[in-house]
Amino acid sequence: MGLYSSPFRVIFTPHKGKGIVIEEIARVSTPSESERKRARELGELISYHNERYHLLDSPEISDAEFDALFRELVDLEARFPELRTPDSPTLRVGAPPLSEFPVALHAEPMLGLENATDEVQLLDFERRARKFLGEAGEISYECEPKFDGLAVELTYEDGILTRASTRGDGISGEDVTPNLRTLPTIPLKLTAPHPSLVDVRGEVVMLLEDFKELNDEQDERGLPPFANPRNAAAGSVRQLDSKVTAKRKLTFIGYGIGRLAGFEFNSQLEAMEAMADWGFLPNDSRVLLSSIVEVAAYCADIEKRREEFPYEIDGCVIKVDDRELQARLGNKSRSPRWAIAYKFPPMQARTKVEDILPSVGRTGAVTPVAELAPVNVGGVTVSRATLHNMDEVIRKDIRIGDMVIVQRAGDVIPEVVRALKEERTGEEEEFKMVEHCPVCGAKVTRPEGEVVYRCEGLACPAQLRGRLRHFVSRRAMDIEGVGEKLIDQLVDTGMVKDIADLFTLTKEVLSGMERMGEKSAKNVINALEEAKTRELGRFINALGISHVGEATAANLAAAFKTLDGVMSASEEALLEIEDIGPQVASSIISFFTDEKNVETIDKLKTLGLSPAQPEERSGEDSLGGAIFVLTGTLSVMTREEAKETIKRLGGKVSSSVSAKTTYLVAGESPGSKVKKAEEAGVTIISEQQFIALVSTAQSKPETPTPGNVKKHLSQQKLF
Ligand SMILES: [Zn+2]
Repeated sequence: MGLYSSPFRVIFTPHKGKGIVIEEIARVSTPSESERKRARELGELISYHNERYHLLDSPEISDAEFDALFRELVDLEARFPELRTPDSPTLRVGAPPLSEFPVALHAEPMLGLENATDEVQLLDFERRARKFLGEAGEISYECEPKFDGLAVELTYEDGILTRASTRGDGISGEDVTPNLRTLPTIPLKLTAPHPSLVDVRGEVVMLLEDFKELNDEQDERGLPPFANPRNAAAGSVRQLDSKVTAKRKLTFIGYGIGRLAGFEFNSQLEAMEAMADWGFLPNDSRVLLSSIVEVAAYCADIEKRREEFPYEIDGCVIKVDDRELQARLGNKSRSPRWAIAYKFPPMQARTKVEDILPSVGRTGAVTPVAELAPVNVGGVTVSRATLHNMDEVIRKDIRIGDMVIVQRAGDVIPEVVRALKEERTGEEEEFKMVEHCPVCGAKVTRPEGEVVYRCEGLACPAQLRGRLRHFVSRRAMDIEGVGEKLIDQLVDTGMVKDIADLFTLTKEVLSGMERMGEKSAKNVINALEEAKTRELGRFINALGISHVGEATAANLAAAFKTLDGVMSASEEALLEIEDIGPQVASSIISFFTDEKNVETIDKLKTLGLSPAQPEERSGEDSLGGAIFVLTGTLSVMTREEAKETIKRLGGKVSSSVSAKTTYLVAGESPGSKVKKAEEAGVTIISEQQFIALVSTAQSKPETPTPGNVKKHLSQQKLF
């Protein structure tokens, strides 16, 4: 309960794992109906986008937009504590992720480095150091390439890795120990004689080759590529699930020491050599130079060869080698006096925007892409650059005909940095987002609260694979045997041009596909046939309407009973439904008013699709619209199975207790919902009573029930 009683709450937004401190203000007031509604809608939206982000790995909105939704809900709940339902996403994300990314204070701050961009500034650095030391004599420098990755600190106590944290702001970062433990280049135990305590500092990078492989995989899975190796490395380290980090190929390269006890080094180079002995990757590009002039030559040479490195580098780091001199030079407020970073200029070039064209991604996002007069940027010819989204085009004011600066970040997608407005002739044209998809002709809309424009076309070839995958998935139409490989072949051969075409497939066509025998072809045909009468809710979920996830789809089905009913629902009628607010309602209406979508749905109907209504399938003893709320841990069936059973028998499942609730099913260690139910006069039943109720409601004993429920039911002789 500490979470509730503390005057401050640190909430980790699931998108970024970053903590935001929220002041909890107890104010007694009652929310208006629209505030209640918005809170419910926000709860649904956050869960929906969370799932897109974490499970499906295909976010629809930016982190900033997600944070805005999240903060809005946090704020509403802070103002009206009664809106904080026990299953509010603000609580859910507040607990487990919190323990996954605790704040990690650095015992010794991880300071930044001062920058130099030319030889003069390097000479100046030495002059200042000499002046501070008040002596002549030689200073030797340890120099190395500056890796472009994520800075981390590894703490070893008695040679055992006890904590791994990100640099963060230098004072405190995030504790990412479980994630970094998965890196083969980070020894869990130091070999050779080692200090009793040491903080090893370095960079987590993604090798260019591993980065390319990861982006190829992203592409295969229909996901957007990572912008550059640094982003990919940082994103991989900061995964809430360390299994994801483990799958990404990351490399740690050490470059410094923080705290040190029970060991001594005379020089930086010695320290680096010891690190190699302890089991860290040695760094071959490291050199010891005896004058700053040599250092400048080294920097120029590395810059010339920057493309030859297996990882991205963005400069060189120069450190006074002598540890005693380092100690005497000490630190300024934010950077040490004994080290400096020589930064390479970014890989940029100047060229002309010949056109701006809308490009449709596989998720339906329509993004503006600049067609450029071909130009060489850091050794690579660039003729296209992403403009990210409309907001960026407007913010940067980039027009067709503009002279612009393009920049290559990593070895992927170049971007337009800025327009050279002073060179405008007046002939330049502003880019307007298209109203119709250039690929399929369907409407292009910008869903409220989103930064991205989307093609709404159900049959859009540009996004067909993604749509098909979702359509057949287990939680949607659940069509077994139609996997990614088959979908790819069906799309590539042109056999399937929209979701409806799936139902035109014949055994002959299917058995002609790679790795498809006669038997599996027959199984797919059977699975498709069976799917024709799937529950309406699953069908609606399968359509992939933006913002409409499983729960909202089920609610729509329950409220409107038929597909036509859902399709023709007015905004007012939609707003009547729990969890649907104006944002979701407008997304639904927009989807069903698109001509192409209506065409595809008509085609599905012609092919025999008739999504079944749960009510029709249940008999006279069915649950007849009873509203269930589940709480606590169920032991006989999973929550998922319980929900499925209720819906199949014509009941409804709600997430919060209200006067409309018929039954509260209380499993083990139920939460505050029991008290709420008591107050609202709702009947509270145990899991056993629930099972008894469900078994009486089974209209036809042959109706399939979730396997283990049936087993338990028969064991308990309830049948
Ligand atoms: Zn389209």
